Parts: sequence; structure tokens; C-alpha cells
Amino acid sequence: MKITWKRIKISPASVFRTAKAVRTDKETIWVQIKHEGTVGWGEAVPMDTYRQTLESAEETLGAVSELLATRDPRHIEELSEELVARFDKQLATVAAIDAALHDWVGKKYGLSTVTMLGLNPARIPVTSFSIGIDTPQVVAEKTKAAAGFPIFKVKVGTPEGDIALKTIREFAPKKTVRVDANMGWTVEQALEQLPRLRELRVEFVEQPIAANDLEGLRRLKEAAIIPIVADESCVRPGDVLRLAGCVDGINIKLGKCGGIRPAMKMIHLARALGMKIMLGCMIESSLGIAAAAQLAPLVDWLDLDGHLLIKDDPFIGLGGQGGRLMIGGSQGLGVRPV
Ligand code: MG
Repeated sequence: MKITWKRIKISPASVFRTAKAVRTDKETIWVQIKHEGTVGWGEAVPMDTYRQTLESAEETLGAVSELLATRDPRHIEELSEELVARFDKQLATVAAIDAALHDWVGKKYGLSTVTMLGLNPARIPVTSFSIGIDTPQVVAEKTKAAAGFPIFKVKVGTPEGDIALKTIREFAPKKTVRVDANMGWTVEQALEQLPRLRELRVEFVEQPIAANDLEGLRRLKEAAIIPIVADESCVRPGDVLRLAGCVDGINIKLGKCGGIRPAMKMIHLARALGMKIMLGCMIESSLGIAAAAQLAPLVDWLDLDGHLLIKDDPFIGLGGQGGRLMIGGSQGLGVRPV
């Protein structure tokens, strides 16, 4: 197979802040696989948390294209295992290849990826919609503008974030609200904050404390104030096992674990261990989101709004309204360039 790639520009619809970063314009990489006259596409979104860059992604793609030159894209499972083992610091790029392989097989045989996986797209949960941290006035406006979405996700863990949460509750008293602290608290601070979150009827909190503090997470879970979900603590399948008993649920992202194949392993492990499962994303185009959406029928909580937070999405085909996602087309991931 032949692998090519090019950078694409992603512009957030508005400046988006979390406890750790401010997101502005960025680029992602559109990866294309060509074999037997059929193409498959995936999107690589390098994650700075893992010191991945556009350059390291492109370097990885160069190495992958040599490695896979004479391989068969139908053998997704073995290709995925090899790539995850060999490029374990570049899993966002491996995820793009994994998506492109799924897209290729779907297009080759005329099946949507969700059907290939044996899943029912009618069981996709409603996604949350993220409201970024800003002044109370702007947060109030964003909350009103997002009235069509039944579930909000809010970044907390900073004083402004905590004010934003209160503002959202004020303007959306009946919506489901989830929060993400992005490691913003210590255990003691979290123990102080969680009862307040419960008072504000928050459904669960994502990653309240540092990623490697599993005993701290266990203390928070055992305090049983509100459910605790691991995101930064949960990167790949082995982490699901380590987190058993420490959290109530995990947040899986294709870019963290290396794509649909490793994500399925994590989903099955988490289910066997009695954990809830959330499927998340980065700020990315609907090409990347469409890959994650194929797995969405298997999860409890969906946070696939990355493509809803950008303007000028370079891809079309992934439909939906008010937080409902609709996988497009009947072949592969169901998206195509605008
Ligand atoms: Mg998170």
C-alpha cells in the first residue's frame, strides 16, 4: 500500500481554554492509504502532552510508509499490533493509520466501518458539548447559544473554570453537566471541591488530580461523592487494568491509544472490570471524529464534539443535530473532503 499525507488547518470557532492550555489555530495531518485503486483516510492529531509534534508525526508516517509498503490493508489487527509496539510514542499517528485501514476495507467491500465492527449505529449515545472557560458574560452567551445540546462539558480546575460552571448552571439549570479538571487539583483540593460539584448536580468529574496518582484517585472514588473518570491516567489497554478500583470510569481517545483496535481492547477490559466508558476526542476535523464515532455504540458517555468546536471543517459526511451523531454514508468512515 502507498501512504501519503498532508497538513490541514483547523481553526477553533472561539478561543478554547482548559486548566493547562489555551487552544488557538492548529494543524492536523490528513493521512491517505492507497491500494488496489481504493483509498482510505485518517487524521493524525499530535498531542503535546506526549511531546508529539507535526514533525514527529510526519517522520513516523515516513517510517510507517516504508514498513507497510508491501503489506495488505485487510490485515488490520496484525498491522495495528505491530505499529502500536514499534511507534509507542507516536500513537496519535498510529491512530490515523488505523482509521485509514478501517476506511479502506470499508470502501473496498462496500460496508460502513460500524457495520464491519458488528455494531448498531442507533445505539450511539448523545455527545456532550464543551463550553470553554471565559468571562461569566461570554460563558452565559455560549450557554444560551448551545441550548440545543442536552449535555454540557465544562473545564474546571481554575478559579475562572469554577465560576464558569456556576454560570452554566444558572443559565442551564436542567441540563446534564459533566466537568473535566484536567489534573487541576491536589487530592485535598478535590475533596473540598467534589461536594460543591455534587450540589451543582454534576454527573461526573474527569481527571481531578495528577495522572500518576492512582492512590489519590482511589481515595476520591472511595469518598463516593460523585463518579470519578480517568482521562490523562488512562492512555492504553494496560492502564485500564491498573485503574481497576481507582476510578468509576475511563475516557478513551483514539489518539491516545493508537486507534479503533486498541480502543476496542480497552472497552472490553473496562466492561469486564465493571467500569463505565467514555469516548473522547481532541479538537479535530470530522474525519478524526468519524473514526471514533464508529465505536460509539459500545460506550456509556460520548464526548465527540471536536468537530463542532471548529469553523470551516474540511470534511463532510458526519451528520447529527443537538448532540446526536449520525455516521454518514455506507462505506468506511463515511466522510469526504468538502
Ligand atoms: Mg479530559
